[in-house]
Amino acid sequence: MRYEVDHVEIRDAITKLCEAFDGSYWRDCDSASRYPSEFVNALTKGGYLSALIPEEFGGLGLPLSAGAAILEEIHHSGGNAAACHAQMYTMGTVLRHGSQAQKQKYLPKIASGELRLQAFGVTEPTSGTDTTNLRTTARKEGGAYVVNGQKIWTSRAEHSDLMLLLARTTPKEQASKKTDGLSVFLVDMREVRGTSLTIRPIKTMMNHATTEVFFDNMIIPEDALVGEEGQGFRYILSGMNAERLLIAAECIGDAKWFIEKATNYAAERNVFKRPIGQNQGVQFPIARAYANMRAAELMVREGLRLYEAGGTSGEEANLAKLLAADASWEAAEACLQTHGGFGFAQEYDVERKYREARLYQVAPISTNLILSYIAEHVLGMARSY
Ligand SMILES: Cc1cc2nc3c(=O)[nH]c(=O)nc-3n(C[C@H](O)[C@H](O)[C@H](O)COP(=O)(O)OP(=O)(O)OC[C@H]3O[C@@H](n4cnc5c(N)ncnc54)[C@H](O)[C@@H]3O)c2cc1C
Repeated sequence: MRYEVDHVEIRDAITKLCEAFDGSYWRDCDSASRYPSEFVNALTKGGYLSALIPEEFGGLGLPLSAGAAILEEIHHSGGNAAACHAQMYTMGTVLRHGSQAQKQKYLPKIASGELRLQAFGVTEPTSGTDTTNLRTTARKEGGAYVVNGQKIWTSRAEHSDLMLLLARTTPKEQASKKTDGLSVFLVDMREVRGTSLTIRPIKTMMNHATTEVFFDNMIIPEDALVGEEGQGFRYILSGMNAERLLIAAECIGDAKWFIEKATNYAAERNVFKRPIGQNQGVQFPIARAYANMRAAELMVREGLRLYEAGGTSGEEANLAKLLAADASWEAAEACLQTHGGFGFAQEYDVERKYREARLYQVAPISTNLILSYIAEHVLGMARSY
């Protein structure tokens, strides 16, 4: 199989780095629900988690497509970048809307690995996808904000120093629009963890280090505010195209892993005195998954191209996430089916990757919500909510 690829040197370096973290490493982390610290440290040491941080702040200053290549190859190798990808997709909001002082204070330390910005607190248990109805509030008092409320699915909070937090600073009834009155904060969790900030892990079907977090009169300094007060929803939205493209790249990596794994197994496994891969009933689902992966990959590249050219990539970023998540899931199905009973045995890694790949139909945005975006914002159909 030959894939046309960009950032070849980075891809090769990541593939090499990932050789030290093989299936048994990820299996062990998975069965012990353990954070893959060694892997995240190796990526940090290699500078890869600072790929999108400008050089003036100690990062590699690379474009989004380089970040996408890094994440794709981690997944292509059988690993899982979910342990650390947030540092890439939160970066746009900090770079575009953060103050010079915030950038100088945090970015060099994030780039060196001294600090981690891996937590992104948006989703809440009651409002779910309906973000503008979130209930966490940040009330200004003197030179500080007092935060109260709860977030859910705040992944990696236990393994992060900083959190990008979305909270309401103006009650919805007093805001001129429901999208106004929300603000973004760069919270230094080291100062409040265990007192006014409580983090509780949530056990999930895959090893994801996700949590729920509770803010109980959590005091954060005024200068934790990112950009202008009340404009936070726009800032988060502006970062979402990058997030969707990066997640789509991970899905492409997963799809490639499943397709290669299935193809190899189909060639090796003999039943009825011939390789199962000789049967078209086994070949065709893998071939179709390959075709759909390649088509999705083109859309991911187009989204990245438009993003880097500074154009509006909303349509393409959403299409890329939808198609890539579908392609990885189709490839996961084909791979598991090709393996027959062995697909269910942990030592083949297929069942682990299968559980991991399923997430991207739901998070960071569910398939339905993308379809709704396409229907309403691309095709101009009536709003449903
Ligand atoms: C493992 C994991 C990690 C996560 N990490 C983070 C994180 O780090 N930070 C963070 O902020 N969030 C995180 N999330 C949250 C994730 O973004 C949400 O789960 C996702 O956006 C869906 O929201 P919800 O779970 O509240 O579903 P709901 O909004 O309750 O929706 C439930 C279902 O109904 C459908 N639905 C809802 N409204 C409509 C509609 N109008 N039309 C059609 N269908 C609709 C949805 O598509 C979905 O399938 C994570 C989630 C998981 C599971």
